[in-house]
Amino acid sequence: MISTPDVLVVGAGSAGVAAAVAAARRGADTLLIEASGCLGGLATVGLINLLLTLDDGAGTQVVAGLCQEVVDRLDASGDARYPTGETWGSDAPELVASWRPWGLIWGAPPEVVRYSVAFDPEAFVDICYDLLEEAGVHLRLHTWFAAAPASGGSVDAVIVESKRGREAIRPRVVIDATGDGDVLVSAGASFEQVSIPPHLWFRVGGVEDEVMAAAPDSGLGLLWFRTAVPGRVLVPFGPHPERIDACDPDDLTRAEIACRRAARAHFEVLRSQMKGFEGAWLDDYARMLGITESRRLVGDYVLRKEDGDVRFADAVAQTGHWTRRNVVYDIPYRCLTTSLVDNLIVVGRCISTTRYVHQATKEIPAAMATGEAAGAAAAAAIRASTGSGAAGGTPSNVRAIDVAALRSDLSAQGAIVGPGVSTDASRRSVR
Ligand SMILES: Cc1cc2nc3c(=O)[nH]c(=O)nc-3n(C[C@H](O)[C@H](O)[C@H](O)COP(=O)(O)OP(=O)(O)OC[C@H]3O[C@@H](n4cnc5c(N)ncnc54)[C@H](O)[C@@H]3O)c2cc1C
Repeated sequence: MISTPDVLVVGAGSAGVAAAVAAARRGADTLLIEASGCLGGLATVGLINLLLTLDDGAGTQVVAGLCQEVVDRLDASGDARYPTGETWGSDAPELVASWRPWGLIWGAPPEVVRYSVAFDPEAFVDICYDLLEEAGVHLRLHTWFAAAPASGGSVDAVIVESKRGREAIRPRVVIDATGDGDVLVSAGASFEQVSIPPHLWFRVGGVEDEVMAAAPDSGLGLLWFRTAVPGRVLVPFGPHPERIDACDPDDLTRAEIACRRAARAHFEVLRSQMKGFEGAWLDDYARMLGITESRRLVGDYVLRKEDGDVRFADAVAQTGHWTRRNVVYDIPYRCLTTSLVDNLIVVGRCISTTRYVHQATKEIPAAMATGEAAGAAAAAAIRASTGSGAAGGTPSNVRAIDVAALRSDLSAQGAIVGPGVSTDASRRSVR
């Protein structure tokens, strides 16, 4: 046995880091485990270096909290580029054109400036380490979740694998931040799964400055995004045409090889055909395939397209939509929980939504917002069960917490949870 933490977060992508920080800041003894040797998941190792849409498309911020904290820290070190608040929602052609090279303009015309952020992934990783350390999170990298045997409606233990062999952890609450729902599947929760065409973003160095500042779509279907580093662009390669099951290692292996070869060929086209790329080189491929979706929880509530602009009494986060404007989804706490496993919370890419809404809730700001909500909820569940005299190591019921109090807590700490909280910070223009 490694330990008996209050809260175990599995997966240190953007959602898992936010969950761990939020739980630890609220006093929960928190362990975060991660299969790889790095923090951030797709946002860093996957080179998805764009926080798409912290706003509603009409000038109002809808994601703040820990995500905003990360943006502030990135900004302080010069590692973020984003439009200032007074320009959000503007359709001024020169403004829109100035943000297009950064990969921050999406959606059908009329295009507008959104609150989206291009960032440096290494700075993002360093900030995540700092946040975890400052909050007192116990971190264990190179540790692979293997199984979550459950009985009587709760996870009893979490089995992990590492070079040290097989070990057990007995948390009171488990947060599944694996992106693929590895924990929820093992614990017996209901889920949906889809196959997808994978992506493999890569970075190119040695690009001429005038190309960096130009509109990225060359007319040849070749796209690249400007980065804060001189001479370097980010190339969003994909989708590769062959669909895969992103939870099957044989499919993933085939996709790693196929995407890499195709990405190299794509780079050669850029170098041979694009002015300004003549002396360019391939800096690095993402070390994590770009998997947009795999498994999703079918939880206590499944958020649907029709829920756009519906305000939920148990909303613990909000998100806009990166290709649509003027629609805000409340994310009810019930999208993070399941009646089948009382001490499990699911966050990030694999929360309970339809495929349509997943397009919005999978984005990094929304993933961080659900992570933050889950961390706070886990800490609340621990406090409630300790208060009622439950012995240490006893699973805590995350479905029995006071969600109104959770919303107030999140709001007081700067998160946006929608209207109807006593310290209502929702739907505000922060910048
Ligand atoms: C091609 C593509 C383009 C995208 N574009 C954008 C964009 O422009 N802007 C935007 O905001 N979002 C974008 N997204 C979405 C966004 O990148 C992801 O949905 C988001 O980063 C998911 O965060 P997460 O923390 O839920 O999961 P992940 O980032 O996938 O993190 C999961 C973590 O869990 C770890 N893990 C997994 N399984 C285990 C296990 N068994 N044991 C231990 N650890 C495990 C992984 O190593 C990883 O670190 C894009 C996604 C893709 C694929």
